[in-house]
Amino acid sequence: MSRVIDLTRELVRFNTVNPPGDEEAAMRHLGGYFADRGIAVEYQPLAPNRVNLVARLHGRGDGHLVLCGHMDVVHPGTSEWEHDPFAADIVNGTLIGRGATDMKGGVAAMAQSLVELAESGFEPSADLVVAITCGEEVDMAGARLLDASQALEGTHNVVIGEPTGLDIFCAEKGVFWPKITARGRTSHGAMPHLGVNAIVFVSRLIGRLEEYPFPFERSRTLGDPTLSVNVISGGVKTNVVADRCSVEFDMRLVPGQKTDDILAQLNALMDELRAEIPVEVTVDILQDAPALESPPDSRLVLAAVAAVRERCGRQPAVGGVSYATDGALIAPSLGADMIICGPGGVDQLHQPNEYVEVSQLEDAVEVYKAIALTLLGE
Ligand SMILES: [Zn+2]
Repeated sequence: MSRVIDLTRELVRFNTVNPPGDEEAAMRHLGGYFADRGIAVEYQPLAPNRVNLVARLHGRGDGHLVLCGHMDVVHPGTSEWEHDPFAADIVNGTLIGRGATDMKGGVAAMAQSLVELAESGFEPSADLVVAITCGEEVDMAGARLLDASQALEGTHNVVIGEPTGLDIFCAEKGVFWPKITARGRTSHGAMPHLGVNAIVFVSRLIGRLEEYPFPFERSRTLGDPTLSVNVISGGVKTNVVADRCSVEFDMRLVPGQKTDDILAQLNALMDELRAEIPVEVTVDILQDAPALESPPDSRLVLAAVAAVRERCGRQPAVGGVSYATDGALIAPSLGADMIICGPGGVDQLHQPNEYVEVSQLEDAVEVYKAIALTLLGE
């Protein structure tokens, strides 16, 4: 059995369900695999039992290539699995387990590509880095730490190994989750004119939001932004005017939309509504990851397309996704191009009986090696 398969199985057997994550044991295991082969390894502590791992094959100059993945996984869920989600059984050419696809398979393939290039004596023109984060599934805290650490300074290209079936996504929508809490004044339900009804305020806000013309320019790969109102809570009793109501909504942004601008537009809209219903308003931002888009004719995209074509004998799709990855937190501040390309089907994300085809793990190792050889070979 090839080493990438063994490595994936070893990582799946560490329970890194987030929360709480507890990724450190798995990170140390992977770090040991690098260190045993003479590859430089650095750990970045986030919290007890939680670290990022950065492994590096040093090059001569700048223009580093970063292969990035996350070690945490989501809970196996409440529906029955046909196999223990942490056993990493192999059945009919598939490796089954929580994280097989999202994304310990990708992590193992990235690690194995670095190891094989190092063992072959490859001397890259700039650093080849494998950066594995903790905490991606909840709040991307590991990616924030990685970004703040400046360990990736000098990077021109980032590959995120989330599952794409080895297709190539060169754009992702931004994710912006505002939570708005309105506080009014309570009164008896029989005398509503004496109160300030926070529920009425929020319901008017929602009505306006769905139509609100937040400015944007349609993206070729990502299409239009979206807005979805998904959580609302307020009120205490039928005969009591509600003095408190909160709403959370999920906005998916396209490149060019700035969350500061959106917040200003939102505040202007609420000021207008408050002229009639004078509630106090607070805004909490639950998630804020910018949209990004790399040119489809960038060196990175072209190298990845050629690598997949060469290894898999097919032309990969090139497109965009409507969710954020760790890439949104590390690529913009580096000014780097970014793609998402990894083994495993998108349909397996967070599913029971999650699996990855072992042949795709082996393909991914070769694809990552080919991308590194193209970008760092001269
Ligand atoms: Zn993932």
